[in-house]
Amino acid sequence: MLEMKPFNPKEMEGVIAALESIPGALAAIPTERPTVAAAKAFAGHFASILKAHEEGKQISYNQFCFYPELMYAFDIQPLCPEAWTIIPLVVMPDLAQKHIDVAMDAGVHSELCSADRALIGELLTGNVPAPSFIVTSSQPCDNSRMGYSMVQQMTKAPLFMVDSPYGETEDCIAYYENQIWRLITFLEQQTGKKLDWDKFREVMEESNRATEYILEVNELRKMVPCPSDGKVPTFTFFGNMTLLGHPSLTTMYKTFLDDAKERALQKQGVVPKEKIRAIWFYTMISWDIMAQSRLQQELGHINVMDMFGYLTYRPIDTSTPDKIIRGLAERNHLAIPMGRQGRGFTDVYFDDLFYVYEEWKADCVVLAGHDGCKWLKAATGMLREMCRKKGIPLLFFDVDILDPRVVSGETYRALVEDYLTAVVEPSLLEKK
Ligand code: SF4
Repeated sequence: MLEMKPFNPKEMEGVIAALESIPGALAAIPTERPTVAAAKAFAGHFASILKAHEEGKQISYNQFCFYPELMYAFDIQPLCPEAWTIIPLVVMPDLAQKHIDVAMDAGVHSELCSADRALIGELLTGNVPAPSFIVTSSQPCDNSRMGYSMVQQMTKAPLFMVDSPYGETEDCIAYYENQIWRLITFLEQQTGKKLDWDKFREVMEESNRATEYILEVNELRKMVPCPSDGKVPTFTFFGNMTLLGHPSLTTMYKTFLDDAKERALQKQGVVPKEKIRAIWFYTMISWDIMAQSRLQQELGHINVMDMFGYLTYRPIDTSTPDKIIRGLAERNHLAIPMGRQGRGFTDVYFDDLFYVYEEWKADCVVLAGHDGCKWLKAATGMLREMCRKKGIPLLFFDVDILDPRVVSGETYRALVEDYLTAVVEPSLLEKK
């Protein structure tokens, strides 16, 4: 049995201090307004987790494919483990390495997604608070299912797995709805209190406000030139898994919208001279996300949309409890990024990619192929063929989104820069 050390908040306190220093460091750069807003919201979120026990709150792990509104409605402090391990890398790029090493020294296999390995390492070293209970989801992948099973065995916390069926039929959605009703019963048992539906409705209305703002941002991102920073889709992913339903996320998305609108009204792009519109149709590299600012400024490249920022859901009808649960089932089962594309048929991923490529008027595709992500790797051969037939430039490279030792920043950046300047740019000039 793996021994866990008691929780020590020191490391996360360092992360919070680093996040809190971002507004001072970037305040003078107008294009970094979204980064500043995101840093403030995430620093506040992590600080709330550190205060949870002294405020008498239970901590629930919520896996990233189950957004946290229900936890906020129950007055439970949500802690999304993937966010806990990934967001700090924006300010401390090497932080996950030592946790990954601890997990592997304890016998965890290197094939497991590094997000799960990092979490297990943090539990062993006492760098993440243990959960009162765990809410996870069967999507997107085997890595996550295995990882959470290990976490449950280590922490002995009660676990509820929301089971996402393979398909997308009406029966599948009805089945998922039933899962949410059962989850509510589980949370009532764990907290010893009944769900307050008025409070839940308020949380869902807050969630809807945030969703409306971010959907408008995504529409504005279709403009040429793109008026919104290339890191915004990644911050959206981080935001939804930690804070959806909390007012601080609504504030953050409102800032994203105001920032984009201001430039859109003047028909200005976030990049001084936009040359290349890319879709990074997997994810940005969290430990090197600020490299996007340099790619924007120096190469005129912008990520107009990626898989994590592409949202296919709409605000949820809050008029009755049944409609709220139905809306949550449709959104969670069908539309949470990575869950949507990784759960079932790979066609969903291909269709999404080509739709986004057209709608957001992209010139090329960049795929940072996360090391642990088997479904993505298995799909790349077919994707290459499809892109070749359609004449779409595609760069796929290996990297690990938590561990810079697998492929370094220098190595992957050189690949991306060569691709943009030696392949994409000349082909665009030729087209003109
Ligand atoms: S990154 Fe890939 S392997 Fe890791 S949780 Fe997501 S789908 Fe699974």
